[in-house]
Amino acid sequence: MDSIETLALVAHDGMKDRLVDWAGRHREALSRRTLYATGTTGGRLVDGLGLEVTRLRSGPLGGDAQLGAMIAEGRLDGLVFFIDPLSALPHDVDVKSLLRLATLYDTALAINERTANALLAAG
Ligand code: PGA
Repeated sequence: MDSIETLALVAHDGMKDRLVDWAGRHREALSRRTLYATGTTGGRLVDGLGLEVTRLRSGPLGGDAQLGAMIAEGRLDGLVFFIDPLSALPHDVDVKSLLRLATLYDTALAINERTANALLAAG
């Protein structure tokens, strides 16, 4: 796998604690990369861990769509997306679109902790 220099982090509300916890354990590896995040997730990473993160719009307000556009433009190498498997989301269509584009463009994609560990280890 090509190295993952530019990485986006996204977590749905029910998964944000888990993502911040995971990111804290991988702070060093994450801080070596250029990080993007949807708005609220990014706020948690900045406030909780002091990571340098470019915050996009909140997911339901277009943040997932912004990440999809970055993928389509070849500006994102990897995506760690902690999806909440137990909640319905108003922006489900944007979530699907983001996952579709990540699949289409062969973006390194992790949707839970174990695959996120593998993603960091791979690149
Ligand atoms: P948020 O967006 O980080 O702004 O909460 C994430 C999402 O719901 O896709």
